[in-house]
Amino acid sequence: MATPRRHHLPGHPPRRHQRRAHPALRKFLSAAVRLGNIPHSRVILGIESIRHKSAKRDPHRDDEGTAFVKLARYVLGRAPGLRAITYDTALRGSHRVPLADGLVVFTTQHGGLAPESLQRFEDGPCRHDLYVGEGRVCKRLITDDGTTHYTPLPVEELERRESKQTCFYHRLTIPCRVKNHTLRIRVDETPEDREIAPSTKRQRFNHTEHLRQIPPGTHAGRRLKGFREDSESQHSRFDQSYPHKRVPAYGADAALLIYIGYTWLSNSVTRAKITHALAA
Ligand SMILES: [Zn+2]
Repeated sequence: MATPRRHHLPGHPPRRHQRRAHPALRKFLSAAVRLGNIPHSRVILGIESIRHKSAKRDPHRDDEGTAFVKLARYVLGRAPGLRAITYDTALRGSHRVPLADGLVVFTTQHGGLAPESLQRFEDGPCRHDLYVGEGRVCKRLITDDGTTHYTPLPVEELERRESKQTCFYHRLTIPCRVKNHTLRIRVDETPEDREIAPSTKRQRFNHTEHLRQIPPGTHAGRRLKGFREDSESQHSRFDQSYPHKRVPAYGADAALLIYIGYTWLSNSVTRAKITHALAA
């Protein structure tokens, strides 16, 4: 599995986005980037308060997924070197669609998606029925006792191709007694995804919901998940910076202002740290 690192500029680790829920009913979203092995090198790129009540009771703020897409696009407009972002399960396929036009978007898997039939692969005498499960293409095996297993196919590479828009593919190998087959499966939204099937009146297939650029269970996925978990330390430092180890609460707008102050401080520490490291 290719890691998104290959799409990074040298020295730029994946960008992480994170959210924060708080007992005082405020919820924030923040985007940050950090060098892999240097402590205190995190730069907070953007923050936003998000809706934590119903749209009716809090009409001025966006829901988490919408706010995330807006924030990511805002950051992308100012940091065109951005190659990959990590977030958690709050981000669904519909949110990944507008971002996957150029970005590698990693989210931890949410449960509840049953494996589905994808397509039949044909090559000479061979027929291989392919399925999707756990964010990637699988082969189905039915054992003697009737149990069904889905075995993921090895992903050799996450391919990125530029045409009118950026497309991402998994280059896969189907191990076979005849010969090993290679094929490419699109993992971002295709034009067919947007069509409605006349028989079911539902969307035909949702590539971004079923297939992940970086599937969560892979080595690359586990590494990116680590970045997401690491971002919790920023939240923790935010809390620890205040008396009683809690950020004071004066409502969402005031809390956002406090967060901006904290960001200023945190980014200043980073600037001093990096300047010092470069001078050494
Ligand atoms: Zn075959």
